Amino acid sequence: MKMSRLMNETLREAPAATEVAGHQLLLRAGFVRQVAAGVFSYLHLGQRALQKLEAIMRHEMDGLGGQEIKMPLVHPAALWQASGRWYEIDAELGRLVDRNGRSLTLALSHEETLADLARQEIHSYRQLPQMAYHIQTKWRDDPRPRAGLIRSREFTMLDSYSLDANEAGLDAQYQAHHAAYFHIFARCGLPVLAVEADVGMMGGTLAHEFMYLTPIGEDTLLLCGNCDYQANRQVATFRKPEKTAATESVQFVAELVDGEEAVEQVVTAVFPQNTQINETKLVHVLDAQRLRSTAEQTTDIWVLDDGINRAGWNGAVHKIADITAAQDGAACTNCGQPLRTARAVEVANIFKLGTRYSQTMGATFVDEQDEARPIVMGCYGIGVTRLLACLAEHHHDEDGLTWPVAIAPYQVHLLALRGGEEAAISLYTQLQETGVAVLLDDRDERPGVKFNDADLIGLPLRLTVSQRSLAFGGVEVAARAGGETAVVPQDDLLTYITNWLTNA
Ligand SMILES: [Zn+2]
Repeated sequence: MKMSRLMNETLREAPAATEVAGHQLLLRAGFVRQVAAGVFSYLHLGQRALQKLEAIMRHEMDGLGGQEIKMPLVHPAALWQASGRWYEIDAELGRLVDRNGRSLTLALSHEETLADLARQEIHSYRQLPQMAYHIQTKWRDDPRPRAGLIRSREFTMLDSYSLDANEAGLDAQYQAHHAAYFHIFARCGLPVLAVEADVGMMGGTLAHEFMYLTPIGEDTLLLCGNCDYQANRQVATFRKPEKTAATESVQFVAELVDGEEAVEQVVTAVFPQNTQINETKLVHVLDAQRLRSTAEQTTDIWVLDDGINRAGWNGAVHKIADITAAQDGAACTNCGQPLRTARAVEVANIFKLGTRYSQTMGATFVDEQDEARPIVMGCYGIGVTRLLACLAEHHHDEDGLTWPVAIAPYQVHLLALRGGEEAAISLYTQLQETGVAVLLDDRDERPGVKFNDADLIGLPLRLTVSQRSLAFGGVEVAARAGGETAVVPQDDLLTYITNWLTNA
């Protein structure tokens, strides 16, 4: 591709109201442009990088025996009503009405659509197990989009779904995804760890999140340095010190769902002094849809944390449970050693859904004993566009992005400088013929501008052809990540580049 033909201009300064370094660089280098809050266009370089990520994902999913499909962005509301999520999820779910007055939703995820396919296509145990995946757009109307692609409203996901006859089958597919996800992140060049997580709005019985540790992350993890305990703070448990009589309390209105009816109850949560309430734990204890703050007078439900000494408590008690958040230094639930906290971005999650969707939506199969049973489901997702943002965050320096070869939009950045234009064009053609992806800077710009843009865009290998390099006997070659600059004779160049890219 010739840079003179690209519409994206590089920006010297990051646009106002952007804070995260990786996102600023994606904007400055012309990979993405914001269209609306949390909504982005991917320009040519951004789209090329996404295609690299998606190719790695397809390869790994195909390796699990997955069948690639594509489910729609627009769903009939009836599917989401059947699963119950139409009522459970609030304004995050995009809802619209078509010209005939029928209610529709925008895909927030695809469990309902997949369960609907399964109930039509799967009839017998002989058709199981199955694994299907797609790479598709999602819409989640986040009230606080931030950090560019890390927390956007429209985003791309790889999501896959396993269908099994029993728990053992689900367990095998869950473990296979767990391993494949680590392969995907390793191939892309992002270090991640997998932590126990809340099942949240997906429902189900077990979940793990894949986390990229970074100070810009919004999730807090609790990590044990002594054993392998690592968990999202939302679910992290810990050994509590001696029970205390000193308490604090906070009130919420809890929305409990009874069929299609929402019932509101005022809840007072009582917890030890100098600790924090963990709202996720409280939601589970109450089996509530959501909580909102309140300052009501009367309490319907009293919930006491299990770290409270009840000898000093005279009030009512309806539930006793762990409802406090693990803090930095809390004792590990496994080994008792202090846990440390770390910030992270969630780049993927995997869920054992069990029969949460197949039961509500009637996706059943006939087993060997001729009995109808619900299909056992798992769902697995990686945020593709969020992954691109995390990679930009992880692979950059003060001059710009530093893409690993595996995910760089082009492998080689070829700069044509004064006196080297003709040689550059012929090299460009040669490299393309040998299958090397080249970005040619053929713009009428000063050398300094071209060098700065090459650093900013961050392709792995930079070639410079100029009157000067030709006088020295060839083409100047420099790796973006640093190291020696060499002048390589034109005759040796193809071999040199091919070897370099293979070994990088
Ligand atoms: Zn431990």
